[in-house]
Amino acid sequence: MEGRWTGRSVKTEAVVLRSIKYGEADVILTLFGRNTGKIGAIAKGVKKPKSRMRGTVQLFSFGDYMLYRGKSLYTVTQCETKEPFSILREDLVKLTYASYIAEILMGLLQEEEVNPPVFNLMLVVMYMLSREYGTLAVRLFDLKMLKLAGYEPGLLSCVLCQGPLGQGVKFSNMDGGVVCVRCAARTAQGQKVSKGTLAIMNHLITENNLSKLDRLKISHNAHMEMENILHSYWQYILERRLKSISFLKDIRILHENQ
Ligand SMILES: [Zn+2]
Repeated sequence: MEGRWTGRSVKTEAVVLRSIKYGEADVILTLFGRNTGKIGAIAKGVKKPKSRMRGTVQLFSFGDYMLYRGKSLYTVTQCETKEPFSILREDLVKLTYASYIAEILMGLLQEEEVNPPVFNLMLVVMYMLSREYGTLAVRLFDLKMLKLAGYEPGLLSCVLCQGPLGQGVKFSNMDGGVVCVRCAARTAQGQKVSKGTLAIMNHLITENNLSKLDRLKISHNAHMEMENILHSYWQYILERRLKSISFLKDIRILHENQ
């Protein structure tokens, strides 16, 4: 993005996707910047008590950054927090949801791939998560992100024979969407999914007026069905297990045993 760059320096809004302590006082960040895409950046001296950047480079915080582009890493030269998103670090479940989003973004995005639509989606969902929204925000991220990344699942007719969807349909990761009962018998894989759940998923992909989402009534079963399907689909696409998914399962077991 020309105009935001001056020589090797760039000004950008960015969110911290990962933060790793480095040495005594430094932190290495994975930032997703509106004008830089996903980058690695070192923030020097931020762990020192008197550092002006101390609070600004925390996980999931959103801020204005001045960055200097080095050989392998950027260096944070200035940073000002716009929204700390503290609740995403303090609430264990929200922390897991935000980590899941960060894990998917880190898996999908190429280094320095500037992508404003994805940046905007991430920010909207983080604001939703920081308020009263939970799983609905995460599912919205899943479905809109799949579409932006070119993996929009086929949900309206059988993705194999294009026939109508009756009873007994399944979601097939390999085929990228829903298959009818006859095709499902042939492929012998996939997860069962109800018509109601498919309608909600389709709604989340197509609805752009977010205030209308409040009117969606989603049963616990539909939430669980969507979650299982989308967790499995992402792991198929990214070809890896997501740590945040197993962490979420652990938290739920912990809650049940309390
Ligand atoms: Zn079919």
